[in-house]
Order: sequence, then C-alpha cells, then structure tokens
Amino acid sequence: MNSTLQQIDIEKFRKDFPILQQKVHGKPLVYLDNAATSQTPKIVIDAIQEYYLKYNSNVHRGVHRLSQLASEAYEETREIVQDFLNANSVQEVIFTKGTTDGINLLASSIGRGLIREGDEIIISAMEHHSNIVPWQIMCEDRGAKLRVIPINDDGEIIFEAFEGLLNERTKLVSIVHTSNSLGTVNPLREIIDLAHKKGVPVLVDGAQAVPHTKIDVQDLDCDFFVFSGHKVYGPTGVGVLYGKKAWLEKLPPYQGGGDMILNVTFEKTKFNELPYKFEAGTPNIADVIGLGVALNYVQKIGYDKISAWENELMWYARNRLQEIDGLRFIGNAKHRAGAISFVIENVHPHDIGTILDREGIAVRTGHHCTQPVMQRFKVPATTRASFAFYNTKEEIDQLINALHKVIEFFA
Ligand code: PMP
Repeated sequence: MNSTLQQIDIEKFRKDFPILQQKVHGKPLVYLDNAATSQTPKIVIDAIQEYYLKYNSNVHRGVHRLSQLASEAYEETREIVQDFLNANSVQEVIFTKGTTDGINLLASSIGRGLIREGDEIIISAMEHHSNIVPWQIMCEDRGAKLRVIPINDDGEIIFEAFEGLLNERTKLVSIVHTSNSLGTVNPLREIIDLAHKKGVPVLVDGAQAVPHTKIDVQDLDCDFFVFSGHKVYGPTGVGVLYGKKAWLEKLPPYQGGGDMILNVTFEKTKFNELPYKFEAGTPNIADVIGLGVALNYVQKIGYDKISAWENELMWYARNRLQEIDGLRFIGNAKHRAGAISFVIENVHPHDIGTILDREGIAVRTGHHCTQPVMQRFKVPATTRASFAFYNTKEEIDQLINALHKVIEFFA
C-alpha cells in the first residue's frame, strides 16, 4: 500500500469537489487558499440538502419521527467527532459555530469561573486574532493580564521564554497548534507537559491542524481543543470545542437558553448535563450533520496519506518559490504544515494576489488575522499559498509561472 497519495488518487478525489472543476477568468481554478476555507465534497453538500429535504426538524425536543431522525443524525456526528479526536466521551464534545466561537465560549466561561484580579493567561506571538482578542476582553473585565510568548526570526516560539512566563498566577495557556500565517507547527507535547507540571491547563487552537494532521486529544493531553468545520472540508458555521470532562463540569455555562437546562424557575435554574450545558438554543443542525460526513470523508482517505502528500507538496512549493527573484519567506520553521507565506521585494501582496487571480489562482493576501505576526516581521502583509490534499504539483508550477509574470510586470 502506498503511504502517500498518487496522481491517480488525487484525480479521483478532485471529482468529489464540483467547485474545483470550474474556470476562473477563463483559466482552470487553482485553489490555494485552503487555510482560509477548504472546499466541500459533494457528499457533504448532499447530506445537508437531504436534511432540509427529508427531515428538517428541531433536535432533542419532539417525539415525532422527523425530530427523532434529526436528533439521531446530530448525535451521530458527536460520536464521529469523539472518534475523530479520540476524546474519552461524547460529553466532551461541544458543537460551536467554529474556532472563534469555541475560544470566546471558553474565555467567557473561564473568565467568570476561574479568573481573579492579578491572574495571568499565556498566549503566543503567532496567534490568530481569535486567540488574542477574546482573552484581552476577558482580562480587561477581570483585571487579569495577558502574557505573550515571543517568537524567533524563523517564526518558532522561544521555549525558554515560555518557561519564564509560567508562574503561580498563570491560569491558562492558549496556543495555536499550526500557525495560519507562518505554517509553524508548535511543540505542543513539550508545552503541555511543562504547563501541566505547574498545574496549568492548556487550550489548543486546532483550526489549522485538523485539515493536515491526525489529532489525538488524549495522547496530546490538552485540556481543551477547538476547530472549525469549514477548514476540514465541512460546512461553514459549525465547529467543535473539546474539553476534558472534569474541566467542563467545573466551568459555568456560556449562554443561557433552551436545551442547556434541566429545570427553570424564576428563583433558580438547574443546568443540563454535559455536553448540553454548553449548547444553548437551537444548534446548527444541518451543518453539524454535514461536519460528520466531512470528518468521515477525511478519515476514509487517511491522515497518514494526507499528511505525507501535503508535506511533499509544501516542500516542492518552497523549493520552486526560491526561483522567484526578490522572494522572501515569512516563517522558516522546520516543523511546518499547510501554509507558506512570502513577500516579494517592491511588489505589494495585493498586487500579487490580483495578478494571480487573473490567472485563475486563488491565494490569500493581507495580514491573515495575525497583525502581531506582521508587526514582528515588519511587513504590512504577506502572500500566502495554502494546500489541501487535492492540490497537485502542476498547480504549484502554475503558481510559479504566474509569479514570474508578476515579476516581469513590475520589472
Ligand atoms: N485560528 C486559526 C489558526 C485560524 O487559522 C483561524 C481561521 N483563519 C481561526 C482561528 C478562526 O477560525 P474561524 O474563523 O473559523 O472561527
């Protein structure tokens, strides 16, 4: 059996994604913006459509047939996620709107439940805004302090600095698994081990991890893990917060409303058990069902093959990009996945993005919701190419050809 994907597999899998078959500005679409949103296979779209066509109904409420079908399909995704993350129980799987929503949920809940004046939260200098701003808001509310692990010139965290920041006031470490703007994969085992030695729980932002890497939350021993469906071939508007049961039981609910209660009187409300305590109101039923189909789809292909192929693609792209005059990588971490960021001397990333678009190539340009990373590397923005298992070396060759045109244009 092959340990990576072959051309023949990729051609077959690309047929699962109708959106990839189109032309943009008369050229075949080359989609290299997967870190922003990955594409959705037709089976996921079909599952969502089937829900609306055949059993659209609220969950956990009705005794009627449609509601039972909807509840079963919704809870089946919870089991799929439990297996996908290797969580200990379905009670540890909370459905959210996405990574941002999961972090806001925790920031709010941990803030009210755990944080006192003078406490500290540690994040890193490569976080997405969604793992900075919720903590800033919470720290301001609670009189707590945000501490930031610095990164080196290659875009890797400085471990000794992390050690120096951990102290008896630290209440949580919240850190990205894989950086969306630098492509760095963080040494999470070491980070989590060290934090745990000091009794500090760790939240992992897994938004850019789950599309590329097999995640085992028990093996990682993280206390919380969040990800978004739309970056792992699922729909938008849905994501997951995993939390160790002992922590989730300790924390107060985030939002109040239907489904998160056992009993309500005007005097007092008794909250529901996990995971429902954290799922107030009618959830995004259709997209939760779609997410389950997407996760089964990736698992069927296999993370060993996905990771091996994407790694091959990424290093092929890094090597070929070095041909471009004046190109400089932003982020040179040795352990990396998913995304490559670069700047080209005297050409603004937005101009690069616009010219590539005319060639049918979709990349991301801007600060990638990591403005502190741009400040650290003293650039206003970068161009980012990010990969999925359905990308090919031919597509990277097209990117390189188009970049040569950019250089000629600005010469
Ligand atoms: N964290 C990282 C590392 C990300 O890449 C993203 C999305 N770019 C997010 C968090 C936020 O994800 P979402 O917008 O799906 O909530």
